[in-house]
Amino acid sequence: MSAGPRAENVRAAAEALSAWFAANQRELPWRRPYAGSGFAGGMLAEAPAQSGASATTAIKTPPRRDPYRTWISEIMLQQTQVATVIGYFNRWMERFPDVDSLARAQESEVLEAWAGLGYYSRARNVLVTAREVSARGGFPSSREELLGLKGIGEYTAGAIASLAFDLPEPILDGNLVRVFSRVYGMDFLPDAKEQKAAYWDIARAWALAHKPGLVNEGLMELGALVCSPRNPACDACPLAAFCSARAAGSQDRLPPAKARKQSVDVEGYVVAAFRSGAAGLEVLLYTPGKEERLAGLLTFPIFDAGDLPGLRMAWKSALPGLASAALRPRTAIISHGITHHRYRLRVAEARLGAREGGADLPAGYTWAPAGEMHRLLVSSLPRKVWEALGPIAG
Ligand code: SF4
Repeated sequence: MSAGPRAENVRAAAEALSAWFAANQRELPWRRPYAGSGFAGGMLAEAPAQSGASATTAIKTPPRRDPYRTWISEIMLQQTQVATVIGYFNRWMERFPDVDSLARAQESEVLEAWAGLGYYSRARNVLVTAREVSARGGFPSSREELLGLKGIGEYTAGAIASLAFDLPEPILDGNLVRVFSRVYGMDFLPDAKEQKAAYWDIARAWALAHKPGLVNEGLMELGALVCSPRNPACDACPLAAFCSARAAGSQDRLPPAKARKQSVDVEGYVVAAFRSGAAGLEVLLYTPGKEERLAGLLTFPIFDAGDLPGLRMAWKSALPGLASAALRPRTAIISHGITHHRYRLRVAEARLGAREGGADLPAGYTWAPAGEMHRLLVSSLPRKVWEALGPIAG
């Protein structure tokens, strides 16, 4: 670290930032209180500062902002742009206006409301946590207790504790790393243990310096609106006077670029197998296990096979009870990217006799009514396959 505001200056910088945030924040639905929630907090509300309070002390004052709305928005905003999240968030809140209504929902309803946001393990974790929070009568405010809830990591725990309860808890995400890297002239990313600790120490100092909810949210907003990855608007920045990168003219070099994770090409076949079942046409679906690609997502079975004979062998080995099924290639090719996997899948189809292969399906496989596919398939890859099958599937 070469420069940036030290202890005595962090407070002045944090105050400048919160004043800027109060005047310039975007109006976003999760910043507004929900009419039925009983929370008085909202766009410009400032709960009494908790500076100096123990981070684990349960506060006596009302929350600054509804923790449920804070939590859902933060989970949705991981990996998804604000503009996309707004629509999802509003629809979600109409359907599950509070943690109790979410806790009562079926997993299929939750996955349906999440469909399109990807990373479906998050939606499942959200449901588990909603049930726990509802059973205990409300959200905990301490970082430690929040960290004990499924799907809530360091960042989200800090966000709920500070944004909702105004506790002096730090947060650190890509936006804050960029801001801190520039303000303090740090030419490294929080990769190794010591590097992480250096960033978290700074984040903690800022959360302790002034009103934590405003400061943390101000840092996020500054990273999103002003201290952008390219061409930061330094002339409009409330931290300009404190910023090492600005003084050195090194904004464009900080933070250093991340080493790119190599993408993995997945070539193979996706199989659509049909049979007549009790309730009409049924489709064979598979839920990959934890260690498999697309873990936990209901999909058509996918096989790493280079050609049709290879596919037939893989099919027989995975589904010996359906070994007699005739696999026929279709012309459709499905191209799709998920995280760092790039899929290029040929489609094969199998038609089985009535009720064939019902009794001895291996773990993870299931027959599902064709008419339910729009509801059951929440991930975009199997949805693309279903669309490519066209009327044949109807
Ligand atoms: S002065 Fe520029 S580089 Fe420094 S924090 Fe502000 S926007 Fe970022």
